[in-house]
Amino acid sequence: MSQTAPTPVTDTTVPHEEADVIVVGAGPAGSTAAHYLATAGLDVLLLEKTAFPREKVCGDGLTPRAVKQLVAMGIPINEEDGWIRNRGLRIIGGGTRLELPWPELSEYPGFGLVRTRYDFDQILARHAVKTGVRLLERTNVTAPIIDERSNRVVGVQAKDAEGRIRSFRAPLVLAADGNSSRLAIALGIRRRDDRPMGVAVRTYFTTPRHNDDYLESWLELWDTTDGKQVLLPGYGWIFGVGDGTSNVGLGILNSTPAFQKIDYRKLLRRWTQSMPEEWGFTEENQKGPIRGAALPMGFNRTPHYARGMMLVGDAGGMVNPFNGEGIAYAMEAGRIAADVAVQALSRPTPRDRERTLLRYPEILRDTYGGYYTLGRYFVKLIGNPYFMKYATKYGLPRPLLMRFTLKMLANLTEPSHGDALDRLINGLSKIAPAS
Ligand SMILES: Cc1cc2nc3c(=O)[nH]c(=O)nc-3n(C[C@H](O)[C@H](O)[C@H](O)COP(=O)(O)OP(=O)(O)OC[C@H]3O[C@@H](n4cnc5c(N)ncnc54)[C@H](O)[C@@H]3O)c2cc1C
Repeated sequence: MSQTAPTPVTDTTVPHEEADVIVVGAGPAGSTAAHYLATAGLDVLLLEKTAFPREKVCGDGLTPRAVKQLVAMGIPINEEDGWIRNRGLRIIGGGTRLELPWPELSEYPGFGLVRTRYDFDQILARHAVKTGVRLLERTNVTAPIIDERSNRVVGVQAKDAEGRIRSFRAPLVLAADGNSSRLAIALGIRRRDDRPMGVAVRTYFTTPRHNDDYLESWLELWDTTDGKQVLLPGYGWIFGVGDGTSNVGLGILNSTPAFQKIDYRKLLRRWTQSMPEEWGFTEENQKGPIRGAALPMGFNRTPHYARGMMLVGDAGGMVNPFNGEGIAYAMEAGRIAADVAVQALSRPTPRDRERTLLRYPEILRDTYGGYYTLGRYFVKLIGNPYFMKYATKYGLPRPLLMRFTLKMLANLTEPSHGDALDRLINGLSKIAPAS
C-alpha cells in the first residue's frame, strides 16, 4: 500500500460547503462517529469514496463487543433480517477441538454475529443518515485543507462522481479512511514500525457448513520457508454466513521472519484443500477471488489527534493484536471521538476546544493502551513457532486456561465484580504500560 503523501491544500478562499464536522470514510468507524455527532445535533458531512452496497475485504465476524455497539446505536439485529447469531468460538489445533461459549457478562451480550460487509457498512451508513448525517457517496477525499495562519486542518478537498473538485470546510475533521489513511499521511502521521501488523486474506465458498452457530478458528497454519516447515503466528477461520456460503480466510502476524515471503493466497488455497471433502471448499464452489488487506494493530498510527484532525478506527491502527478484530474497536473509537468532539465544539474559545480535543488520544490510551501493550507481547511470543506449537498442544486441552484465553483474546471481561479471570485480565491490562 502506498504511503505517498497527498499535498495539503492551503488556498482556503475557494467556494466551499460547510458543516460542523466532516467525517471521511463511511466504514464502521466513520458511520458510528457520524451517527453520534448527529445525535448530539451537529451538522455532519460523511464523505465516502465508494457507493453502497460495496464489497469490503473482511472475515465478517462480529464478537459480543461489536454487537454491543450495534445495540447502542439502535440498529435492529433480528435473525429474520439476515443477522446470523453465534454462541462462541470453536478452536481447532494440536489434535483438539474445543467449543468455548462467549462468556456470560453483564457488560456484553452473550452472542456474536456474522454479516457480510457487503451490506453491513451500508446498514450503518444508512442508519447514520436517518440520524441526520449528510452522506455523500462517490466522493473521494484527495487532501486536507490547511489554514496557513493556524496550520490547522479546516476542511478537505474531494473529487465527486462527475470528476469535479469540491471543497468542504469544518472546524473539525475525523479521518476514518481506513488502513491506508491518506489524510493521516498528508499530515505526516505515519505508521509505527514498533507496532504489530497483520495480513489477512479471505474468500467465500458455497458449503453445507454455512449455518454454523460457532465462529471456527484453526490454529495450525504451516508454511515451508527455506525448505523447513514453519508453524505461523495466526489462524485460519471459517465463519458461516447463513446464505449458503462461508467466509473462509486466514490472518498472519508480522512477528514471523517469513511474513514478507508468504504467498497468502497460495497458503489459503493449500489450507482449504486440506479440509474434509464434504465441506466443499473446491474451486468450483469458490465465490469470488481471494482478496486480502492489512490489519493495522495496537495503535500503529499515532498521534490520534493533531491540528484539528482525529484518527478513528483502522486509520489510527486500532485492530486488536490478540485476535485481529477491528470492527468493534472502530465503532468504539467512533463513539469516543464523537463524545469528545461534541464537548470540544461547545467550548467558547479555540484554546478550550483544543484542550478538550487533546482528551481523545488520552481516553484511547487509558481505554486500550495497557491491553494493546499486552497484545504486543503476545504477538512477539507467538512469532516463536516453538511457543505456538507448545501452547497449541498443551494449552488447548486445559478448559480453565482456554476460558481465560478466550476472555483475553476477545477482550471480554466484566469491568468490575467479575470472576477471578476477569480480575486477572483487568489487572494485567492496568499494570501494562500504556503507550
Ligand atoms: C481479510 C480481513 C478479515 C478481517 N476480518 C475481521 C472480522 O472478522 N471481524 C472484525 O471485527 N474485523 C475484521 N477485520 C478488520 C476490519 O475489517 C477493520 O478493522 C475495519 O473495517 C475497520 O473499520 P474502519 O471504519 O476503521 O475502516 P474501513 O472499514 O477500512 O473503512 C474506511 C472507509 O473509508 C473509505 N475511504 C478510504 N479512503 C477514502 C477517501 N480518500 N475518501 C473517502 N472515503 C475514503 C473507504 O471506502 C471505506 O469505506 C478484517 C480485516 C481483513 C483485511
